[in-house]
Amino acid sequence: MTIYQNLIAGEWVGGEASDNISPSDTNDIVGAFSQGTAKDANQAIAAAKAAFPAWSRSGIIERHSILRKAADEIIARKDELGKLLAREEGKTLPEAIAETVRAAQIFDFFAGEALRLTGEIVPSVRPGISVELTREPLGVIGIITPWNFPIAIPAWKIAPALCYGNTVVFKPAELVPGCAWAIVDILHRAGLPNGVLNLVMGSGSVVGQAMLDNPDLTGITFTGSTGTGKRVAIASIEHNRKFQLEMGGKNPMVVLDDADLDLAVEAAANSGFFSTGQRCTAASRLIVTEGIHDKFVAALTERLKRLNVDNALNRETDIGPVVDEKQLQQDLDYISLGQQEGAKLAFGGERIERQTPGFYLQPTLFTEATNQMRISREEIFGPVVNVIRVKDYAEALSVANDTPFGLSAGIATTSLKYATHFKRNSEAGMVMVNLPTAGVDFHVAFGGRKASSFGPREQGKYAAEFFTVVKTAYTQP
Ligand code: ADP
Repeated sequence: MTIYQNLIAGEWVGGEASDNISPSDTNDIVGAFSQGTAKDANQAIAAAKAAFPAWSRSGIIERHSILRKAADEIIARKDELGKLLAREEGKTLPEAIAETVRAAQIFDFFAGEALRLTGEIVPSVRPGISVELTREPLGVIGIITPWNFPIAIPAWKIAPALCYGNTVVFKPAELVPGCAWAIVDILHRAGLPNGVLNLVMGSGSVVGQAMLDNPDLTGITFTGSTGTGKRVAIASIEHNRKFQLEMGGKNPMVVLDDADLDLAVEAAANSGFFSTGQRCTAASRLIVTEGIHDKFVAALTERLKRLNVDNALNRETDIGPVVDEKQLQQDLDYISLGQQEGAKLAFGGERIERQTPGFYLQPTLFTEATNQMRISREEIFGPVVNVIRVKDYAEALSVANDTPFGLSAGIATTSLKYATHFKRNSEAGMVMVNLPTAGVDFHVAFGGRKASSFGPREQGKYAAEFFTVVKTAYTQP
C-alpha cells in the first residue's frame, strides 16, 4: 500500500505510518499516512523560516497563479476529493462535495486578494511629510486544524497565509490526514517554492506540542477544543507569538411563537443534526417560547424520524456516522447524563447498526431541558440537541446569551422587531435570522466571542488582520 508522506523543505519524507479508517465502515482503510515526530516538526519550521525571506518578497502574480491553480484543480477533482472526505470523516457525499467546492472558492478568493493588496498614505501632523501604512507578512505560521472540516478549514488558513506572503507548517488532525495530504500535494505541484508550505501529520501531543514549543513560529492559527486552545495561548504568550483561536460553541437557536413553523423546523434540523452535529456552529440549544413549543417539538420529532443515518457514501443517507469510537462514547455519555439530569429523551439516544460496521448514532432530542444542566452548558459535538422552554422573547434572549460560548446564534421569527433586537443583542459572533446557525459564506468574517474564539476573525478580507502586520513608515523628502 502507498504511504502518504510528510512534506518538509519540498521533499516527501517517510517515517512510521498509521492506517486511516473510515467511520462508516471500519473495514475500509482510506490509506496509510506517515506519523511525524517532534524532529520533523522542528525541521519543517526551520525550512519555513529559510523560505520566508524570498516568499515574503515574491511577486503578486506568482502568489495569484499558484492559489488559482490550486482552486482549479480542487474544482476539477471535487467528486474524487469529496469522496475521500466523506470516507475519512463520515460527512455525507453531498456535504463533502460542497465542502470541497468551498475549499476551491477560498483559494480562488485569496488568489484574487493577492492582486488587491493595498496600503494607505496619510498626511503626517508635520506639514510636508506623509505616512505610509502597509501590511507585511507575519512570518512562519503554524496551522493546527481539527477533523470536522478536513478540507475547508485547512483551506481557509493556508490560502490567506500564502496570499499575504507567509510560510507555513501545517499539522492536520489525526483522523483526517487524507484531505490534508491532497491539498498540500495540489499546492506543491502548483509551483510553491520548497519550504513555503510544509506538512507534518501526526499526533497533537507530539507534532502539535513541538510546534507550540518552537520559538521560530511567528504565529499560530488553531481550530479545535477549548482545552488545546488554552495550551496554544499559553505557549504563544511565552514565545511572544501572535495567535488566533477558534474553539467550541453551545449555539442557541430561538424559536418564537410567531415563527414560520416549517422554516423553523427545517432550520433546527439542519443546525442541530446535519454533518452529524459535528460543526462548531451547530445549534445544540433550541430555546422555544410556550405558544409554539408543543407544535414545534412534534414537528421536529416527525422530521427526525425521516432522517436516514447510514454509510456516508450511500445515496439515501442524510446523516453519516460519528467520527470515531471515542467521540461516539462521549455522545452516549452525555445522553446518559442528560437523562440523569432530568431532561426527557424525546427522540433517539441509541447507537445503531448498519450494513457496514461503523459509529452510527440516532439523532437525539431532549425536551424539558434547562439551561443550567451540563448538557446545555458543555459542548457535546454530536447529533444531540436540547429543547429549552421559555415564556417570551425576553427570557429567550437571556437564556441564549447565558453560556460560556459565543460563536453563532439563530432566531426563527416573522417579527422585524424581535429579529432586529436579536441581531443587535445576541452575544455571538455570527447571527442568523430564519436560517440555520451553520453555513457562513467563505468571503465574510467567521469567528465568535467569549470562550469560542480569540484574536482576529478568519476568512474574507478580515483574514488580513491575523496574517499580516501593519508597518507605519515616514519619509522626509
Ligand atoms: P478535538 O477534540 O476536536 O480532537 P483537539 O483540540 O484535541 O480537538 O484537536 C485539534 C487539533 O489540535 C488537532 O490537530 C490535534 O492534533 C491538535 N492538538 C491536540 N493536542 C495538542 C497539543 N498539546 N499541542 C498542539 N496541538 C494539539
